[in-house]
Amino acid sequence: MLTSAPRTDAIAAIATPPGRGGIGVVRVSGPDLARVVGGIVGRALTPREATLTNFHGEHGEVLDQGLALLFPAPASYTGETVLELHGHGGPAVLALILGRCLALGARMALPGEFTQRAFLNGKLDLAQAESVADLIDAASATAARAAARSLSGAFSREVTQIVETLIELRMVTEATLDFPDEDIEFMGATNARGKLSTLRQRVDRLLDRSRQGSLLREGLDVVLIGAPNVGKSSLLNRLVGDEVAIVTPIAGTTRDAIRSSVEIRGIPLHLIDTAGLREATDAVESIGIERTWAAIARADLALIVTDARDAGGGAGLLEARLPPGLQRIEARNKIDLSGDAPRVTRDGGRRSVWLSAKTGAGVLLLEDAILDVAGVHEDMEGTFLARARHLQALATAASHLDAGAAQLAVTPPALELVAEELRSAQAALSAITGKFSADDLLGEIFGRFCIGK
Ligand code: GDP
Repeated sequence: MLTSAPRTDAIAAIATPPGRGGIGVVRVSGPDLARVVGGIVGRALTPREATLTNFHGEHGEVLDQGLALLFPAPASYTGETVLELHGHGGPAVLALILGRCLALGARMALPGEFTQRAFLNGKLDLAQAESVADLIDAASATAARAAARSLSGAFSREVTQIVETLIELRMVTEATLDFPDEDIEFMGATNARGKLSTLRQRVDRLLDRSRQGSLLREGLDVVLIGAPNVGKSSLLNRLVGDEVAIVTPIAGTTRDAIRSSVEIRGIPLHLIDTAGLREATDAVESIGIERTWAAIARADLALIVTDARDAGGGAGLLEARLPPGLQRIEARNKIDLSGDAPRVTRDGGRRSVWLSAKTGAGVLLLEDAILDVAGVHEDMEGTFLARARHLQALATAASHLDAGAAQLAVTPPALELVAEELRSAQAALSAITGKFSADDLLGEIFGRFCIGK
């Protein structure tokens, strides 16, 4: 798919969603669109100026009337020449306009191909290109803002700055290795240890902000368990009702639909339904049960619902079978009947939130507890809508920096190993933006480091 070979073909697609709308846009991108512009508009277009014009078919007939916009290369989204035809938003008329573009030599664009070309032409880096899709998919205002921040390059800039500091550190390390007889004490003079530890902290901060973003994007998997009639459905409905949230079964067959999603304060909560776990009978059912256990194994949190009137609490056998490391919160429901006040109590490591699904008392405390256990910050501004790939890369970089610091701490420092760890850390970080490959490091080093030999 991704190829850096020069692209000579023009691509076209309907850029607006299917269905009827006020306007619909057909977008074309390619190195040379003279034929398409000539064939459809029939006259030259002033760059970046909306021109009201007829769109013509093969025999000069009028297909539609609308605005034509031409963005000559390289000042366009893709970096190629881009033509936008804003017609009326009906599926048939847009299909005619698109068909005309194809007849004039363009081909149908693959999904994401406009953005892919933008990346290949250096208009966006990899993380920005991903954020385009995230912005379009964003399901909440907070998520949309976080994606927009990544798209603006804020995330990439942080990564790039860390990589630049890392390159400086590699320069001194490798120079010390290459010129061991030099009098200059490179490592000492440049405070390599201090720099490395600062770097490590920056990676940590970025990782933290990205994790927050990842929560926005991926949400939390929550197991909801409790005896029949303790009020699980009522609590779920209360959580849904309090928020601008939708209960949506995850697509699939009924047996696959073990999760439904609600949103609390912008964070999607995927609730894993454990109702079927009690009665395992036939084989098909046990497949569903296996799936449920697999989902539980990956969950972030267990919400254990009990009746506040029952002493002791807990959810018995089922709770005993939960993965030992799984975080738990107990919801002591029906305080309107028990007469308890809404509050949070702690018993050892376990938090209990006293609430009433019926009256809503204490439900906000439960939401706070869930977000707190999941490590969600109060302030989601400044977070990046990171993907699992980014988190993985940041974590890998962090572990290489740790290994590098350890090698630097021995006497004498094992500089070859330090250099190797720094190289690996850089490779992991650079994969985020898709910039810098291993090859350009040498040029970077020797271009910036004047040894004077
Ligand atoms: P589930 O079987 O655990 O899903 O429990 P349900 O949500 O179906 O609730 C069982 C019964 O308890 C229903 O009659 C609910 O109306 C009632 N119920 C649930 N929560 C509360 C509560 O906080 N207070 C009171 N008084 N009744 C509740």
